[in-house]
Amino acid sequence: MDGRKKELLKSLPKIDEVMLIIEKRGAFAETTRSIVKSACRSVVEGLRQEIMTKKNALDIRLPEEKQVADQVMEFIDSLHQYRLRRVVNATGVILHTNLGRAPLCAEALARIADVAAGYSNLEFDLEKGERGLRYNHVQRLLCELSGAEDALVVNNNAAAVLLVLNTLAQGREALVSRGELIEIGGEFRIPDVMEKSGTRLREVGTTNRTRLSDYEKGIGPETGLIMKVHTSNFRIVGFTEEAEIRELVALGKKHDVPVMHDLGSGCFTELDCYGLEREPTVCDVLETEVDVITFSGDKLLGGPQAGIILGKKDILQRIKKNPLNRALRIDKLTLAALEGTIYLRPGKAVSHLGVLRMLTEPVSDVSRRAKKLLAMLRKERFEGLTLSLKKGFSMAGGGALPTQEIPTMLISITSKQLSPGSLEESLRRPDVPIIARISDNEVLFDLRTIAEEEYSFIRDGLKYAMSS
Ligand SMILES: *Cc1c(COP(=O)(O)O)cnc(C)c1O
Repeated sequence: MDGRKKELLKSLPKIDEVMLIIEKRGAFAETTRSIVKSACRSVVEGLRQEIMTKKNALDIRLPEEKQVADQVMEFIDSLHQYRLRRVVNATGVILHTNLGRAPLCAEALARIADVAAGYSNLEFDLEKGERGLRYNHVQRLLCELSGAEDALVVNNNAAAVLLVLNTLAQGREALVSRGELIEIGGEFRIPDVMEKSGTRLREVGTTNRTRLSDYEKGIGPETGLIMKVHTSNFRIVGFTEEAEIRELVALGKKHDVPVMHDLGSGCFTELDCYGLEREPTVCDVLETEVDVITFSGDKLLGGPQAGIILGKKDILQRIKKNPLNRALRIDKLTLAALEGTIYLRPGKAVSHLGVLRMLTEPVSDVSRRAKKLLAMLRKERFEGLTLSLKKGFSMAGGGALPTQEIPTMLISITSKQLSPGSLEESLRRPDVPIIARISDNEVLFDLRTIAEEEYSFIRDGLKYAMSS
């Protein structure tokens, strides 16, 4: 290390002295000594890092202690800013796991506000005046809608899969096709979840072809469960074969082995009439008389994070009694939101739930909205920005309809001053950040995932990004 750097390190502000300045300003009244001390350490450590990493030590000017005290107070203020914030999803990926998957509908939000602001009958039976079960609130609605005998809701679908496996096949084998040993983003891997559930994985068939006879050969005295997993986020194409769920159900009955199907993204609404690929609905799958199915609440269902378990009464009773259920249980905010999300009429679901609305909006409507936003942005006369419309494709995301390209309209933005990468980064800095995608050296806003209520965020965000 050169002499100048050593000198700088020695003259770094002393934490005690900065603390003294802050104390004199009376700032301890609003916060605690230990918070101020740890903030001082962070700021001084930042300065130390700067000295260590800067190539040329002559470039560095250490701030005075008073300035360091200001920085410490700013640092403390910044801790109070909300970290979890609303953003605009301009990516065109409708179920974006990193952006919180499904936006909640107005009814779900209203239910949360109503139920959570005060006390609720979460575990209280209003008729009998005694202890009730939190699961009963949505159970009837789910059974009504799906035709299932019984229902249980847990924290998320990963928890649902874990709970079902643990209940039905702990210490025994579960048969799964080699083509279905999938990984979903965020470290959810079927073989790992199986191991944690205490179930032994028995792979059957091959990656691209698994026949009913492969399952039959795999069945033995150790078999506790036959499991089918929806290959949510990819497709195997070409020379492929898989056993139908109907066939697996018959096989299970013959050998007295329960059959579960992890649907991933359970959907109650027929989507093929909107020009989308045909995915079996929850009701279609239950009609096969499968013993138990699991799916997420925040994928195509369009609600809060939750894992929904539907199936035969005797099996659901066993699952409900599993002590693990207590650790995976759903909370009251989620229950309230879920009740506000489940629409018994499909037409209403499509018009009320953001996910379904975005998936099914005709491209002509998306284009009309794109023109409106474009006109609004052009009014701002942004210096050096070129804005234009462009056709493209959106994606369902969230492990639903993985090969479906949904036609959409994009606003393409190029800047004279900023590279696409810098522009995309600047757009993430406003109070309501805009998450855009880059393709062919252009920053793109996909109108399919942008609601009209968000246009002003885009205008203000772009202003902020261009001015900073
Ligand atoms: C998404 C998915 C999961 C995980 O669901 P979470 O709700 O994210 O826990 C499990 N299985 C399949 C097939 C999925 O698509």
